[in-house]
Amino acid sequence: MTQATSSKYELPGVRLETDLAEKYPDYDSGEALAEASRCLYCFDAPCTVACPTSIDIPAFIKSIATANVVGAAGTILSANILGASCARVCPVEVLCEGSCVYMGWGREPIRIGRLQRYATDNGTDGVEFDRQPDSGFSVGLIGAGPASLACAARLAILGHRAVIYEKSEFPGGLNVSGIAPYKMQAPLAIAEAEFVESLGVTIKTGVTVGVDISADELLADHDVVFLGIGLGGDSRLEVPGGDAEGVVGAVDWIRRLKTDAGLSVKHIRSAAIIGGGNTALDAAREGAKHDGVVVVPNTLVKEVEVVDGRVSSLRLVRAEDGKPTEMDRGSIAVDLVVVATGQARLRDLVEAFEGVEIDQRGHIVADAETGATGNPKIFAAGDACNGGKEVVNAV
Ligand code: SF4
Repeated sequence: MTQATSSKYELPGVRLETDLAEKYPDYDSGEALAEASRCLYCFDAPCTVACPTSIDIPAFIKSIATANVVGAAGTILSANILGASCARVCPVEVLCEGSCVYMGWGREPIRIGRLQRYATDNGTDGVEFDRQPDSGFSVGLIGAGPASLACAARLAILGHRAVIYEKSEFPGGLNVSGIAPYKMQAPLAIAEAEFVESLGVTIKTGVTVGVDISADELLADHDVVFLGIGLGGDSRLEVPGGDAEGVVGAVDWIRRLKTDAGLSVKHIRSAAIIGGGNTALDAAREGAKHDGVVVVPNTLVKEVEVVDGRVSSLRLVRAEDGKPTEMDRGSIAVDLVVVATGQARLRDLVEAFEGVEIDQRGHIVADAETGATGNPKIFAAGDACNGGKEVVNAV
């Protein structure tokens, strides 16, 4: 999987993310061979057991060790069609690498993520899947994020027709717009979606279900519909001044720095990130303390102080059990406030499909194994069902 030099999905050439380096450079062939040669090819491979997509890890590492990089990529992609992005964004330290037998001996685990990246970056273009004959069965998938891409790819290989409807101008979902650039840059995620298209999947971008096509029309056009819709927009900062200019949602902020032309942060001298989860760290940059980021625990924003319509400072109070107290913690001057306190749910869209249940947390109720919902013509998976997990869980 190479970052396509020509693509029908045109990202601006100059984006803020292009100034930011990926954390780990790719292995060269010598490094990959040396690392692959350390693998013991364990019979009961605990690394594979730990992988949510059950990639045959010793098999693909053995292919690398014998210089068969296309074979390695084929092994990975047959289990996980988004193997290139998962190689970059998976929390390998708690999944495959965290389970490597070397860990039990207090030694460095096999760098499975980096080997997977080497294989998919250098071998994907040579991988071919045997597609089964056209079954005539048609599936409409909503959202072109990891859940729909993985589902559509498998459907296409099995001979079914798969059409993805995506409201954005780019396929890839959060892989394009929501992954911090030091982990993965947008062109790679778009190339990965284009590889899925090469399997026979149709992706219709710029199509909003409920606006450009109704739920009923989708159900009439397809035998079944798959809801891979992910989560909605960023949660808002519900305090006075919370909608001032300069207050932005974290996912929207990351999207802008990855896909917008000419976004500049030169005028920003001081930024506040509200929240303490992974998205907050991504917005601030992981390894935050080393990058000059100050973490202020047990603190809530009481008010965004605004001058001429723009944020100028934050008034803070001490929090106890997540609730604000009267204990003033002063105010800090900021030019930018990034709100990373979660994402809304796409309740309205789900409710357009009769019989699909939503639980109290706003998650779609679907069978974890089959994706079946309360409507026999509708299936669902990914963040919309699990509330927001890793890319590999969606796959
Ligand atoms: Fe290789 Fe480690 Fe997996 Fe064993 S557990 S097969 S050594 S990567």
